[in-house]
Amino acid sequence: MTQTTIGVMGSTGSIGVQTLEVVAASQGAYKVVALAAGSDLKTLIEQVDQFRPEYVTIGDRSKLPELASKCPNHVTVVDSEDALFEMAAIADVTVNAVVGFAGLPVTLGCLQAGKRLALANKESLIAAGPVVQRARKVDGAELIPVDSEHGAIHQCLAINPKAERVDELLLTASGGPFRGRSADDLRQVTIDDALNHPTWSMGPKITVDSSTLMNKGLEVIEAHELFGTPAGGAGVGIGFDEINVVVHPQSIVHSMVTYSDGSTIAQLSRPDMRLPIGYALAYPDRLPFPHGRIDWRQSATLEFEPPDRAAFPCLDLAYAAGRAGGTAPTWLSAANEVAVEAFLAGRIDWVDIPGVIGDVLDGHDNGPAESVGDILEADSMARKRASAVVAKSERATS
Ligand code: NAD
Ligand code: MG
Repeated sequence: MTQTTIGVMGSTGSIGVQTLEVVAASQGAYKVVALAAGSDLKTLIEQVDQFRPEYVTIGDRSKLPELASKCPNHVTVVDSEDALFEMAAIADVTVNAVVGFAGLPVTLGCLQAGKRLALANKESLIAAGPVVQRARKVDGAELIPVDSEHGAIHQCLAINPKAERVDELLLTASGGPFRGRSADDLRQVTIDDALNHPTWSMGPKITVDSSTLMNKGLEVIEAHELFGTPAGGAGVGIGFDEINVVVHPQSIVHSMVTYSDGSTIAQLSRPDMRLPIGYALAYPDRLPFPHGRIDWRQSATLEFEPPDRAAFPCLDLAYAAGRAGGTAPTWLSAANEVAVEAFLAGRIDWVDIPGVIGDVLDGHDNGPAESVGDILEADSMARKRASAVVAKSERATS
């Protein structure tokens, strides 16, 4: 049996661990060759012992010596400043499971090496759209989304890919823990409330993003990058007006495509990220084993409703940044990261998150977004401004 080699960047997080579960269940179809984590040394070393990769690294450089001392001799500890970029070029398929803008070197390193990128890290695609689009054109480069909505659309489009017949992409949203709450009601929510997602178990940043609907806003831009432009042969020429969001609390329908004849194709499964991860590893094949399947003989109810755009203004902030293009999505994503971090540190309230992002975007002057340097500069500028807005709102409430 030929083995597909796998790199998992961000291996100790929610997506990383679930990727390794898919590999462990694959009975040798996949072999882990590269692992990277941010700072969780203990879990990383356990993973090295279990999966025996050839290369390993850790983002927290102070932990590199301890990592080296605890790894068996056959494992190379990559200690360069560009470790993530270099390690993303090694495997047949690299899963980008890093959280936030820190995942950009993985996305670029993998695509520029002409390999398959299984992308969970939506922030890199959103922040650096034009740069990533160029990298997708490298010979052999392939981007398969891991995000469940985009994995669903990828599957729907595979059935009927004729661009001029695609009318609308419909991203489903669970609505998060605060669905149905009024803007007024949302003033009181706590960190624990925001981290208590009704259908998905995920890392803290994306869980907060789901509670504000910023996750869905980021996914609208992600869908536009993946399917809106013909890059990589995957685009169906869809604009922001044709990418819509529908709240579906059961998280069974993962997204849908409506065609010119009025027919809608949807992809359905249990809310379990091992399915879209497995799809991105195996495509165009499928995993020969299920990670849970729905028993359709039981009765079930699927509900759909429009999102509450007034109570969750992050959704429209994202549409506006996506439509503005250039570095506006870079600023949106950076400001959101700073605001969510401040919320999780107890420095601002949940209701302040959209205000911080809106203030930062009000000051946005659209510069070039053509090179990695442009993107790094835009990201750092937006972070500086967001930190200043956070400090100001902290002073106002203390
Ligand atoms: P998480 O917080 O659980 O894990 C993040 C991982 O990134 C950890 O392994 C951490 O060590 C690593 N990391 C952070 N900074 C790093 C650095 N500088 N260098 C190397 N590694 C670093 O997050 P998650 O929920 O697994 O999400 C990861 C990504 O996947 C995010 O972009 C998220 O939006 C996306 N995503 C997650 C889910 C989900 O169900 N969790 C679903 C769809 C998309
Ligand atoms: Mg998603």
